[in-house]
Amino acid sequence: MMSLKKKMKAEMQDKKILNQARDHAFEYIDQIEEMDVFPSDKNLKNLIQFDEELNDNGCSGDILLNKLHRYGSQATVAQTGGRYFGFVNGNAIPASLGAKWLADIWDQVGGLYVSSPINSKLESVCEEWLKDLFNLPESTVAGFVSGTSMANLSAIAAARFQILKNLGWDINKKGLNGAPKIRIIAHDQVHASVKRTLTILGFGTDNVERVPADDQGRVIVEALPKLDKSCIVLLQAGNVNTGAFDNFDAVCDLANEVNAWVHIDGAFGLWAAATKSMSYLTKGMEKASSWAVDGHKTLNAPYDSGIVLCKHPDALVSAIHATGDYLIHSEHKDPYLYGPEMSKRCRSVELWAAMKYLGKNGIDEMITGFNQRANQLAQGLEKIGFTIHNDVVFNQVLVSYHDDETTDAILNNVQQSGNMWCGGTIWQGNSAIRLSVCSWMTDENDIAETINIFEKALSQLTKTVTT
Ligand SMILES: *Cc1c(COP(=O)(O)O)cnc(C)c1O
Repeated sequence: MMSLKKKMKAEMQDKKILNQARDHAFEYIDQIEEMDVFPSDKNLKNLIQFDEELNDNGCSGDILLNKLHRYGSQATVAQTGGRYFGFVNGNAIPASLGAKWLADIWDQVGGLYVSSPINSKLESVCEEWLKDLFNLPESTVAGFVSGTSMANLSAIAAARFQILKNLGWDINKKGLNGAPKIRIIAHDQVHASVKRTLTILGFGTDNVERVPADDQGRVIVEALPKLDKSCIVLLQAGNVNTGAFDNFDAVCDLANEVNAWVHIDGAFGLWAAATKSMSYLTKGMEKASSWAVDGHKTLNAPYDSGIVLCKHPDALVSAIHATGDYLIHSEHKDPYLYGPEMSKRCRSVELWAAMKYLGKNGIDEMITGFNQRANQLAQGLEKIGFTIHNDVVFNQVLVSYHDDETTDAILNNVQQSGNMWCGGTIWQGNSAIRLSVCSWMTDENDIAETINIFEKALSQLTKTVTT
């Protein structure tokens, strides 16, 4: 029998397995517009095929890839098609995906310059480009992490470090026991990942000073408590339901007067700053101390792409960096200093590729397009009787139809249709349907088709009521 090493080396050289994966992937691409947007019950049941014991002798790559494609591809959501409006999920730009495939073959550990010079270089390039696109202060540094959850965690840890330092306390040495109190100021509409960060970092959700939000989910500035230098203020660019933006200009001015820290969670919304028509939404955001944003949502880089941006490099690096005698620092960017991970994918590659492919005008055009499609969707749904709950300033559309029961029934119907998918939420105490336009694939026809699907759901509903 061939040794395992010999076998794998032969597989790397003859590339049959990689070609097979490519063939399956191409078949997936070709069927994306016909497949169910959410998998059918039959395809979900087939997931049972993966319930098996790990056997002693392994399995050929050929067999496992066939299995993965046959049952796995069918149990995906067709997020890369044009009619997926769930959560705020992005698509993947082909050139960016191609760059990722190449980087997958490199299989780099992106943490240190000495473990991947190319990742270090592209992180530095992306950092400069992002500062330029978002018009951020020169001192800003970027960490490239798995998503905005990790970016929020990193930034709020930096805030905690800096605020305590300003109060004469070194948290890295002394920890939290006996530390001066930090005041967390947040409004009712902060994202779940921010709430999770507050629990991970030991602040506790009960200790948050909650500020009321208005009917769009924006902080009511007049309702802010008096700020001081012990405050971390958490704001949002892009509410997950309405897409609304907080008033950064006013809140940052109040915070900066007393040396408080403002963090902006802009997972999908921060990209408004890179457009001509919507940059008014982020006015004043450069006056904050830190920002979190995703590459994998609005920018349509493939998944696993979040960025933490921080105006105070010392705070970020001190809060999350690790030390070890074996770690080799260079005069280049050592990526692990700016994020909580050590071993990590060379994820700057896809982000770099997405931005390089689109250029400034392409980024503007794509994101402005999301807003146009979202408005088309809102107008179409309003015409057939839906209530639109938000000002469609960005890419989110929040709707309902009469009462909770009807709204839930319509949501259930469109989700079952297989032709599109979106999720539900509770908005100001009532059921609502939320649609997020966040894919380069989504065009006017997809929106028209989606409005038809809603119309059909409505007529089926009236039929059941009358019969
Ligand atoms: C998606 C999202 C997050 C979490 O980001 P991940 O990339 O999923 O970790 C945080 N905040 C907002 C506003 C989001 O939309």
